[in-house]
Amino acid sequence: MRAKLVAGNWKMYGSLAANLKLLTHIKEAAAGLRCGAAVCVPFPYLEQARSALSGTSVAWGGQNVSEHEEGAYTGEVSAAMLQEFGCRYVLVGHSERRALFAESDSTVAAKFAQAQRAGLIPILCVGETLAEREDGVTAAVVTRQLDAVLNDSGVAALSRAVLAYEPVWAIGTGKTASPEQAQEVHALIRARVAQSAAAVAEGLQILYGGSVKPGNARELFAMPDIDGGLVGGASLVAEDFLAICAAA
Ligand code: PEP
Repeated sequence: MRAKLVAGNWKMYGSLAANLKLLTHIKEAAAGLRCGAAVCVPFPYLEQARSALSGTSVAWGGQNVSEHEEGAYTGEVSAAMLQEFGCRYVLVGHSERRALFAESDSTVAAKFAQAQRAGLIPILCVGETLAEREDGVTAAVVTRQLDAVLNDSGVAALSRAVLAYEPVWAIGTGKTASPEQAQEVHALIRARVAQSAAAVAEGLQILYGGSVKPGNARELFAMPDIDGGLVGGASLVAEDFLAICAAA
């Protein structure tokens, strides 16, 4: 049986004062959590997350990483830098990065590889837009995004990674995929990985993301191929984040 994981994505929200309250709540509850938990925070707050969460069961990570190892790339942050700040995870290929910052499948694959090279666990985000779902190409889109990483890093790399299925139309919109809709895509992802390595597929944590809330988490996480959640908005409210962890 795969362990459940709930990862928060704070996006570009927070302040030292607001984070302190949130992290203090999470830290106080950490000992009682019975699932894996992590927060992916903006880069400037990594040290704050590290100082609050060190020694607890809650991990922290970044929301993006450079596809380059180091060099003259002004404004970029390398995987080794994230590793130095104690990150366990880093998001790669979040739909906001793909759409707003023009990250291609091959860029995402390079970021994934850099993250692993530095010993981080990439959380690879995949998912279709509403137009793609309506065109009936959800499976093709998700498979293409996954294959870009499989072809670049090989299937064994997925034994040191987490997948997140995030339908773009459900992110930050309040529209959640139904448990059945999400399960269908999660099963498809697992089957795709199983074509190359059944054991890797069996052990792969596949999170669902897209308007996960305390009120819908339990039924989503009850599906056989949903191994937890990647949570945006609700991860900024300690009670909600912890309630979602409790559901997991
Ligand atoms: C996300 O940012 O990955 C996300 C799923 O956001 P939300 O939970 O707000 O839809």
